[in-house]
Amino acid sequence: MCNLSIVPSVERTCKQLACYVFPQPAGWGFFIWREFSFMPEETGLVIVYTGNGKGKTTAAVGMGIRAVGRGQKVKMIQFIKQPGLLYGEAVALAKCVPEFEVCQVGKGFSMRKGGFSEEDVEAAALGMQIAEQSMNGEYDLVILDELNVAVAKGLVDVDRVLDMLKKRCARVNVVITGRYAPEVLLSVADTVSEIQDVKHHYRAGVKSRAGVDV
Ligand code: ATP
Ligand code: MG
Repeated sequence: MCNLSIVPSVERTCKQLACYVFPQPAGWGFFIWREFSFMPEETGLVIVYTGNGKGKTTAAVGMGIRAVGRGQKVKMIQFIKQPGLLYGEAVALAKCVPEFEVCQVGKGFSMRKGGFSEEDVEAAALGMQIAEQSMNGEYDLVILDELNVAVAKGLVDVDRVLDMLKKRCARVNVVITGRYAPEVLLSVADTVSEIQDVKHHYRAGVKSRAGVDV
């Protein structure tokens, strides 16, 4: 259920105000109108980054950073990806950006080689549980990284995803990433970007690089 307490929205508003260290180009009147005319009923958006080109996860992280810069709180749940492995974005955020929380709930990409184990299913179920809880209004933006892959592989039921989006606190923005986004998700999303694979260094024999790929 949506967190109805007024405290989070007051806190968020104060943080947003604190972000304004630079003079407003169009004057303070415009600033006040822009910031407060739609609050607090503003409806959250569902944004999907899919396609087989490179840039989906990094686009989601970029949006998360943007949200933090506007005084918002972000939670990113990484499906498929394994806790303990060094994902550059997760390491950097844990070190420097406390308002941007990241957790991995997967068992790695091993299932690409074949079916998946009970462990993969349990991990994805835990991810969904965390995702559902994270949408109660505590976070302004919830990123579900690689969720599309988890759905495509049969680890997560797409109806559960749709149900979660429907029941979430209405003002929460959600970003869902990963190849193979299901049609039904594309139809309920507000924004869909399909990143096309035109060229990838991997095919020229360049292996996964720290800081570029992980
Ligand atoms: P990134 O994490 O760099 O934003 P992504 O999220 O779009 O990429 P995924 O589909 O999640 O990419 O794949 C994860 C890994 O596979 C990344 O290391 C990425 O560099 C690599 N990758 C992405 N696209 C391709 C591709 N077309 N061919 C080979 N490897 C790719
Ligand atoms: Mg990705």
